[in-house]
Amino acid sequence: MNLFEAVGRLGHEQVVFFHHRESGLRCVIAIHNTALGPALGGLRMWPYANEADAVRDVLKHSADMTHKAALAGLNLGGAKGVLIGNPETDKSEALFRALGRFIQSLGGRYITTEDVGTNAEDMELIRQETRHVVGVPQLVGGSGDPSRFTALGTLHGIRACMEFKLGHADLRRTSFAVQGAGQVGYHLAKSLRAAGAKVFITDINEERIEHAVAEFGAEAVPMSHIYDVEADVFSPCALSAVINEDTVPRLRCRIVAGGANNQLESEELGTELDRRGILYAPDYAINAGGLMNSAIELEGYNEDRALRSVARIHDIISRILTLAARNNIPTWQAARRLAEERITALSRIKLPYGGR
Ligand code: NAD
Repeated sequence: MNLFEAVGRLGHEQVVFFHHRESGLRCVIAIHNTALGPALGGLRMWPYANEADAVRDVLKHSADMTHKAALAGLNLGGAKGVLIGNPETDKSEALFRALGRFIQSLGGRYITTEDVGTNAEDMELIRQETRHVVGVPQLVGGSGDPSRFTALGTLHGIRACMEFKLGHADLRRTSFAVQGAGQVGYHLAKSLRAAGAKVFITDINEERIEHAVAEFGAEAVPMSHIYDVEADVFSPCALSAVINEDTVPRLRCRIVAGGANNQLESEELGTELDRRGILYAPDYAINAGGLMNSAIELEGYNEDRALRSVARIHDIISRILTLAARNNIPTWQAARRLAEERITALSRIKLPYGGR
């Protein structure tokens, strides 16, 4: 892969490779943009088939984080880290502490947090070497597991979508097809049921479905049928790229709104949903609750502040939907426009002579 061509195209500021032979550390951190503040992004641990895949992943996801933080109204830039290795077998105290030292050497330009393959305990190890980490357990003063807040933010965003598309936000009159009963899907489906919604749910893990059925009365659906369910809202909470050429013609919903990252296989499919009259809630806008929660840790964690911050997702989604409708553009384009407008406006607020 031509690294400088990719970095130039996506507009990254800095890409750092960390290597530490003794602990087996192989890590790439991509800092995409720090116009709004230090760049925050999760640390993914994955047994990548080759290094080029790892670099491609980190470059793409770090650029997405810039838009996510900007839309969420945070004073943060976008970044991502990938740790090459198997999270089941390759973790050690030395690995995360070596990484913590490297992160410290970036002087706060990069702030790490958990992601696929890493957890709050890993962040606690990193925290022993650097302050530039969030998502450490609540027990030690951190914000803990972000998934409850991701689910809550998604629910706020869903309400905004319902008001816009269905003309009401009454969950008792609304049905949902939830894909994934993991951390985000479980919390979301449970809240939807508690508010009186009808919930169909699926997961590759039978036990998780059984749990959702027994605990809060969701209706189980076979994995392959989730796209065909006649429900008002399809809520992807499991995998990436589930909105693709095979699934779009099958959708029977009026709204796609869920917590999963990178739901669209390509942006054109977001345009295609729009053409079919299906409202798509841009994933990085609606699932920013976990990020908002973790960001509060930087100023001293307080759950009430986190809840207040996450509730803003309702208005963020409403603004996106209004802009899209007014300009007759798909919602994914409206979300990007709003994010870029904020970055540009705040990049220009340099104080006059004498200021800093
Ligand atoms: P998770 O691993 O806890 O849950 C994912 C669930 O999806 C698991 O239960 C898994 O068995 C299930 N699954 C896997 N393949 C499936 C398939 N083919 N069909 C149906 N279910 C399948 O992960 P999570 O933390 O709940 O994250 C879910 C999604 O939300 C991911 O895309 C993640 O990137 C995104 N996300 C999560 C957070 C967060 O705070 N956890 C924040 C932002 C975005």
